Amino acid sequence: MRVANLKGRLVLLGDAGSIDVERASRGRFGPDPATVYQVWDEFHSWALGLGDAMDAEDYDPAMLEAPSPRPRQIFAVGLNYAPHVNEAGFVLPEWPVVFTKFSSCICGPYGDLELPSDNVDWEIELVAVVGRPGYRIQRSQAWSHIAGLTIGQDFSERVVQSRGTAPQFSIGKSFPGFGPTGPWLTTLDEFEDPDDIELRCEINGRTVQHGRTSDLIFSVPVLVEWLSDKCRLFPGDIIFTGTPGGTGAGLDPPSYLRVGDEVVSTITGIGTMRNRCVPRR
Ligand code: ZN
Repeated sequence: MRVANLKGRLVLLGDAGSIDVERASRGRFGPDPATVYQVWDEFHSWALGLGDAMDAEDYDPAMLEAPSPRPRQIFAVGLNYAPHVNEAGFVLPEWPVVFTKFSSCICGPYGDLELPSDNVDWEIELVAVVGRPGYRIQRSQAWSHIAGLTIGQDFSERVVQSRGTAPQFSIGKSFPGFGPTGPWLTTLDEFEDPDDIELRCEINGRTVQHGRTSDLIFSVPVLVEWLSDKCRLFPGDIIFTGTPGGTGAGLDPPSYLRVGDEVVSTITGIGTMRNRCVPRR
């Protein structure tokens, strides 16, 4: 099942097009994609029973926006694949390295990326969206708290991010447009193994990152257990789970995004996001 935010309205997407949830449910579920996570289990059961009976409409993919547009909390995990830890010059972490991307950077899957400098790097990531809330969730129960998965880019201004004695990860990764997510939320039943998903990032058609989430140092269930041991998790919260090797910072010499570049982010079983780099306005 694919659940999406079509120009601010909650929709289901199928091969035949989009189904507006508020209309199809006769108002049982509201139109706001941000609030469906509060009633996720009820919504998911309803949507599973919908079958092919409903009329689907054509839609313009350019109108797709972030599947969880107003998360109360955004968790992002750094240094979570060994090749990226090595290229970033760190040692393997004993505990998850956690920062946030401030919510103003969250945007849809196909927006332009304004470059504030010549130091903006790419980081494709699997993003988990919380459905059922929880506190001190055990890893064996963790997947039942995740509504589904989407693609994210953790765009990063490397100079701002690294400046200072204690690095400024959160601010360097929160410029406008630095958190595209989408193109939709794919529910877990669509994946043969949600702990082994393939990710690929291409710049101008050339593959720069290619990995599998089975190589995560801290898997999604471990992250959910670890994060929820400290912070209560709320419906709609999102977790950027880390990026594989192949970032621009890891190249010799480092190479970053330039105006005109196109970043294509693909996760098998979900889909593809496209972001075009433009000058800062
Ligand atoms: Zn990242």
